[in-house]
Amino acid sequence: MGNKKKKPIVAIVGRPNVGKSTLFNAIAGSDISIVKDTPGITRDRIYADVTWLDSAFTLIDTGGIEPDSDDVILSQMREQAQIAMDTADIILFVVDLKQGLVDADYGVADMLRKSRKPVILVVNKDDNFKKFQMDLYEFYNLGMGDPYPLSAVNKMGFGDLLDVVKSHFDDIPGTDAEDDDRIHIAIVGKPNVGKSSIVNKLIGENRVIVSDIAGTTRDAVDTEVKHKGKDYVFIDTAGLRRKNKIKEELERYMIIRTVTAVERADVVVLVIDAKDGVTEQDAKIAGIADDKGKAVIIAVNKWDLITDKDNSTVKEYTNKIRQTLSFMSYAEIIFISAETGQRLEKLYDMIDAVSENHAMRIQTGVLNEILSQAKAMKQPPSDKGRILKLFYITQASIKPPTFVIFVNDKELFHFSYQRYIENQIRDTFGFVGTPIRLSSESARMMIEKGA
Ligand code: GDP
Ligand code: GDP
Repeated sequence: MGNKKKKPIVAIVGRPNVGKSTLFNAIAGSDISIVKDTPGITRDRIYADVTWLDSAFTLIDTGGIEPDSDDVILSQMREQAQIAMDTADIILFVVDLKQGLVDADYGVADMLRKSRKPVILVVNKDDNFKKFQMDLYEFYNLGMGDPYPLSAVNKMGFGDLLDVVKSHFDDIPGTDAEDDDRIHIAIVGKPNVGKSSIVNKLIGENRVIVSDIAGTTRDAVDTEVKHKGKDYVFIDTAGLRRKNKIKEELERYMIIRTVTAVERADVVVLVIDAKDGVTEQDAKIAGIADDKGKAVIIAVNKWDLITDKDNSTVKEYTNKIRQTLSFMSYAEIIFISAETGQRLEKLYDMIDAVSENHAMRIQTGVLNEILSQAKAMKQPPSDKGRILKLFYITQASIKPPTFVIFVNDKELFHFSYQRYIENQIRDTFGFVGTPIRLSSESARMMIEKGA
């Protein structure tokens, strides 16, 4: 009960200038979750968690830099299409009504048609919405089924598109987490930190039951393991490597791979290299895990390479990580070596613990006791003679634990007092390894809901 479904992943592909970014922004709208103070994911809108008319999914724009010749366009598009096929549940293939079909469109259509993923053909720039039906017929030549016309600029045709997108949601494997007790763990990190080595070692002595879950190409890198009677699924982002040498494209690819792996996980193991410490790239990856509200373990790998260790080495490393990744102070930290196997058994224990915390549910009665105590210990703030009143708290959901507090006026519920309440909850229940979320509702809502 209440075990949240994993969000489907919808990827946009298409030639430069067909309107991918315009469509992305129109769909994501104000829901863009990237505008946060987590590092890295600030400027470039590569992904967004979208709630569009009650449907939640992760939207990805696979389009990167603009190629300058037709040859490059095609190879670039193949690359994009491959990324979408590797990572997405549903693909939106965007073409341009004003330009009509061009060779590159056919090339990509050939690729996408072979994928087992649902592909929806979106014909953009139908500004006089549906007036030029004749022009639409051309797009049947792509052999991708019915074209869905829309105008990204005028935001017309979105309803029909959403209906088709939604119609595919129920068929997506892995999104129905209701009766899946297995802990899903994404092992993420920049290249060469030792992700594959860790996964290999973790599954080494443990029997591998399935390594390729039928029905999806993407899940070919999922490995299911039974360890001490419990089931785990490891999602390994190292599985696929790209040859692309363009830095921006590599970066985009890394982010897309990470986002899609993290989305499907309960626990994220962020692997960093003991020799390098926390790099900018590590921080970006950490930002994604935080953004998605997953349980997090920071695994400092290659600990065997740090030779001059003394009593304070662990402490120094820990402090540095806490400082650099200050936005995820909840994360657990462990020092391991895939090479020697050091503390990998403990990593399993940690995965168990943080995933339990991530799914922990606190009774409403107990929560309200904490709230009363908190109010008694530190008076709620006031502003222009009005005092913040906190009436009632309840846990709305798990994964991550999310709490709602009913107050007299949300404006009075300042960040610092929210932080304080959050800390009180943490002090009482621990929640080690998992973020928790706190939001407020005005009490009028509570009365209307009859609570
Ligand atoms: P991308 O390269 O595929 O991401 O394309 P962009 O989103 O950057 O759009 C390319 C150009 O097409 C921009 O000048 C947009 O304003 C324009 N465009 C996007 N959607 C529409 C549309 O629905 N109608 C018209 N007329 N122009 C559009
Ligand atoms: P990935 O790209 O993150 O999957 O990294 P790999 O698992 O392929 O490892 C990259 C390199 O680091 C390989 O040469 C590994 O042998 C090495 N490596 C991985 N883990 C350790 C470790 O704990 N200690 C040492 N010394 N080397 C390691």
